[in-house]
Amino acid sequence: MTKAPLTLYLAAPRGFCAGVDRAIKIVEMAIEKWGAPVYVRHEIVHNKFVVDTLREQGAVFVEELDECPDDRPVIFSAHGVPKSVPAAAAAREMVYVDATCPLVSKVHIEAQRHADNGLQMVMIGHAGHPETVGTMGQLPDGEVILVETVDDVARIDVRDPDQLAFVTQTTLSVDDTKDIVKALNTRFPNIVGPHKEDICYATTNRQEAVKAMAPKCDAMLVVGAPNSSNSQRLVEVGRKAGCTYSQLVMRAENIDWRALEGIKSIGITAGASAPEVLINEVIDAFKSRFDVTVEQVVTAEENVEFKVPRVLREPA
Ligand code: SF4
Repeated sequence: MTKAPLTLYLAAPRGFCAGVDRAIKIVEMAIEKWGAPVYVRHEIVHNKFVVDTLREQGAVFVEELDECPDDRPVIFSAHGVPKSVPAAAAAREMVYVDATCPLVSKVHIEAQRHADNGLQMVMIGHAGHPETVGTMGQLPDGEVILVETVDDVARIDVRDPDQLAFVTQTTLSVDDTKDIVKALNTRFPNIVGPHKEDICYATTNRQEAVKAMAPKCDAMLVVGAPNSSNSQRLVEVGRKAGCTYSQLVMRAENIDWRALEGIKSIGITAGASAPEVLINEVIDAFKSRFDVTVEQVVTAEENVEFKVPRVLREPA
């Protein structure tokens, strides 16, 4: 049977960002340096394939520090942790390595600096996401006010409307966040914030590529995990940019082929924690069913790289 022609648009950039790359390297290098097991607090990055691969190499994933023994190294995930976590590890004299993405650490420093200047902090983020928990946890409990939507801005109670600052989660929708920032600036004209939101280069670039790609596509798939904030945002950006069938898939086996019957074009991208091997798996699945022509949709070049912490660069 002849295969139907299909144009497969491939977003660039897509997939792994510098923070994810560094976090994975940290776990691998820690296992090499200290041997297995090395404990990791929370999924190092939100991707089951990555977590399973590291588990096979000797990583043990736990949710809380209490679950780690004192005498094994522990790594904190790329999303960042509240200040209480390294403090507890230090109190137990544990060896720990912080794999928090440097771009998340930058937001932590911003929040602390504003608080030191006497400003009350507002955080734009998703309740319960580990990055939001980590950033809010840089300051004492109850000090940071969380805002998730434009409507929340009208509801919040602040100590002094002229003594406020805001930070954001790094993986939000660029457009939705602009609306929330606008609402904050309207209600609190003296609020202090970053020049640009704290949304990172990788989130911004992946969303831009989707905006350029989505209008050309009959359907779009985002390779990523349901608990990956930036992957979920790519699905939403795809829908808003005009591709109503935008779906998240973890692996090729999750593709709903029935829903894709009759399509002439497909857009493929991946969240910042999804490895290229899974993207290739999805592309291969399309090649086995369609006569595929691949076209890259390039909107930015990335060459960001972050060093691993010094402790891992030193000999054991
Ligand atoms: Fe860092 Fe951005 Fe990647 Fe998060 S998505 S790990 S903030 S580079």
